[in-house]
Amino acid sequence: MGKYQWDRLEVERLRQLILSRKRIVVLPHTSPDGDALGSILAWMQVLRAVAPEANVQAISPDRIENYLSWLPLLHELIIYPEDEAHSLELIRQADLIFHLDHNEVGRLRYPPLVKEIEASSAERVLIDHHLFPEVGCSPCFSYPEASATCELVYLLAKELGWKEYISPEASTLLLTGIITDTGRFMYSHLSPELFSVTSELLALGADYPFIIDRLSYHNPEAQIRLQGYVLGRKLELYPELGTAVITLSQSELQEFGATKGDTEGLVNIPLSIEGISSSCFIREDKTQIKLSLRSTGDFPVHILAQEAFGGGGHQNAAGAEHIGTIEEAKNIYLCQLKGMLRRYPLSQEQ
Ligand code: 5GP
Ligand code: MN
Repeated sequence: MGKYQWDRLEVERLRQLILSRKRIVVLPHTSPDGDALGSILAWMQVLRAVAPEANVQAISPDRIENYLSWLPLLHELIIYPEDEAHSLELIRQADLIFHLDHNEVGRLRYPPLVKEIEASSAERVLIDHHLFPEVGCSPCFSYPEASATCELVYLLAKELGWKEYISPEASTLLLTGIITDTGRFMYSHLSPELFSVTSELLALGADYPFIIDRLSYHNPEAQIRLQGYVLGRKLELYPELGTAVITLSQSELQEFGATKGDTEGLVNIPLSIEGISSSCFIREDKTQIKLSLRSTGDFPVHILAQEAFGGGGHQNAAGAEHIGTIEEAKNIYLCQLKGMLRRYPLSQEQ
């Protein structure tokens, strides 16, 4: 059974649900990343293969960022802002809803979507690796020790005996989520099982060179120039707190002709500096401030995100939103970090 002790009854209940329902909807979190999109699209493909008579549809709450526009099966995805009425209708009629890569319905962000889901009489199933599952789903496959939801989707499909239904495209999607959520096998939750899953996905036809090519060699010029500006001008270090802060306003993004997708990965760069063990990227979006937090070692940024901003995530990668100014968000972050360092002191090596 390996690293995950699946509850047999829950797995059987899942099988019965999938085989008996006719209108299935699969949902990721807002601003879906590689793991969220990889897992919903692959799961949709598997369910369509296993239950061909059912209508299985994945819906994204947001438009897809350019850096993921190459993902297989993306043309099968319904984008809520482009198809609001249809999306809400599918949810209204659904008899089975999957929540993937998020732990609470609020992570779908948009009130009409959230309301429709909360009003739904469909069975709701969660497959996720964030802490504190809150959705009240059953079955609830919540495994925070998993590197990625894509890892869980693969293992669950295998546990159900449906491995042969995973197409090469779905394998590529699942491997993409593992690669992006682990920072190309650099972050936490790296286990022997994860490498086995990776190897099995490759055997199923996952196209590793394609994924690496798309993630590495197709960045827009604006993104690289923005990176230069950020590292030269916007990186603030607080050695006594072992942290770094980067802020970016809407006008700075516009100046570089960059979109929010072009800021993906910026938050990780300061962690490569000696003595820096946490990093905070604060971006001004149209209606709110978005924070991305990262850490190395034991410092739990998800607790910081939760306590200071009501956000969440994982120990080494978390996020939150703030209504207010960039400066406010930065001060709240620094103040919370200072307080938390009494509970979680910097290690001597820092
Ligand atoms: P990122 O910084 O890449 O946007 O997100 C890092 C992690 O934190 C992801 O697992 C993501 O799901 C989670 N996360 C990001 N923003 C939020 C948020 O506003 N609320 C919660 N609860 N989790 C978030
Ligand atoms: Mn994830």
